[in-house]
Amino acid sequence: MNTTNNGLHEACGVFGIYGVEHAANLIYYGLHALQHRGQEGCGIVTCGEDGGLRRIKGEGLVQEVFSEEKLASLPGSRGIGHVRYSTTGGSCIENVQPFLFRHETGDFALAHNGNIVNSALLRHYLERKGSLFQSSSDSEILAHLIRKDTLQRHRPRIEAIHEALNMMEGAFAFLIMTRKRIYACRDKHGLRPLSIGMLDGGYVVSSETCALDAIGATFLRDVEPGEIVTIDHHGLRSSHYSDYRHHFMCAMEYVYFARPDSDIEGCNVHAFRKETGRLLWKEAPCGADIVVGVPDSSLSAAMGYAEAGGIPYEMGLIKNKYVGRTFIQPSQALREKGVRMKLSAVKGIVGGKRVVLIDDSIVRGTTSRRIVRMLREAGAVEVHLRIASPRITSPCFYGVDMSTYDELLCARHKDLADICGHLGADSVAFLSEEALFGAGRRCELCLACFNGQYPTSVYQRIEDVNKENL
Ligand code: SF4
Repeated sequence: MNTTNNGLHEACGVFGIYGVEHAANLIYYGLHALQHRGQEGCGIVTCGEDGGLRRIKGEGLVQEVFSEEKLASLPGSRGIGHVRYSTTGGSCIENVQPFLFRHETGDFALAHNGNIVNSALLRHYLERKGSLFQSSSDSEILAHLIRKDTLQRHRPRIEAIHEALNMMEGAFAFLIMTRKRIYACRDKHGLRPLSIGMLDGGYVVSSETCALDAIGATFLRDVEPGEIVTIDHHGLRSSHYSDYRHHFMCAMEYVYFARPDSDIEGCNVHAFRKETGRLLWKEAPCGADIVVGVPDSSLSAAMGYAEAGGIPYEMGLIKNKYVGRTFIQPSQALREKGVRMKLSAVKGIVGGKRVVLIDDSIVRGTTSRRIVRMLREAGAVEVHLRIASPRITSPCFYGVDMSTYDELLCARHKDLADICGHLGADSVAFLSEEALFGAGRRCELCLACFNGQYPTSVYQRIEDVNKENL
């Protein structure tokens, strides 16, 4: 994961344990393995033997928020956790998850990864019905939809969850925990990953399989698009809230977000990236002395490019892993400030060389430009940029913080020569969309930020809703 690279941030990671002693400790290690998905805040809710739901959450990294003492105050063999990078809602403690709801129909907690695209409409609808929101996060909407139905009809919670999920549009992987159960739910478009593992006779649910490995769990299967997996003392039960099901997995999970040791829907992330590198060589070969990848998320693609082209792969850029948390600062000025602190070019390696620089993606282009300049200052005689994904030209509405056309370099500059000039490179080339499908041997992917074809409707903002006085 290369958070220094292009300023892209993932929305969140979720992790749950059912039926394993010391659940809070295991969730701590699971969240730690998912830390790359969000560094602004984290939390854990567990259910003790008395049926009480207890929560600790805070702003900051997992190791900053939790201590042994705090984990000891979260008893029980089941629980859910969350790491957050803010998208909808903003960064404040109220928006740190899991959310915990106390209610006469039964307490429950929820954790969410993704973004609800019709959240403004749903919030408006619920507020008019009397709901009071604790936070500005759209994840809370599900809780209100579930509670509304439970209150009105006193029916099984699973039915309320089915109906609530059918009202929500967008990208989500939800974990909902009641006193007796955990429900693992995935959106019907399959935009965000969610996997199930087994450990000591109990179950583990995680946004990425790397966190299953971190606690010694065995991968069982993925939660399917549109599926709700109920986990309780009966084991696993599956139901689907929708007949519409697709596997439009976010391509950027493979390209950039996920850890290379994770498998997403049966495809290892490192293997995917390495294959994009090989295909990039086929599509855009380049005569050069060395191939250099931007650490960390571009290294796999750089290896593939080097291997396919028979060009030596070199560590021409070194990342300082101990810089701290500057990279979570959302302002552009702070992001730019952080780059030099985190990356340095190795003069002895790149000096006098023609370099092919492999980057996974270009969002704003500011960081790529700095890296090209950094390589030149370190003595590179040529810097050819090869990007292991297509041009990002459209905003993401599914939980990734690239929200406006203005901030996207390739939306502002259509001409490849302009883009190359802006980045200060000798040449630049992007991978094709076809190659992304080929790298994962997939026939479906979300590529909306590359081609503007959104798998869901893209809904209105609340201002527009108010105007129409719904
Ligand atoms: S628009 Fe791009 S970043 Fe957003 S879900 Fe689709 S592929 Fe992922």
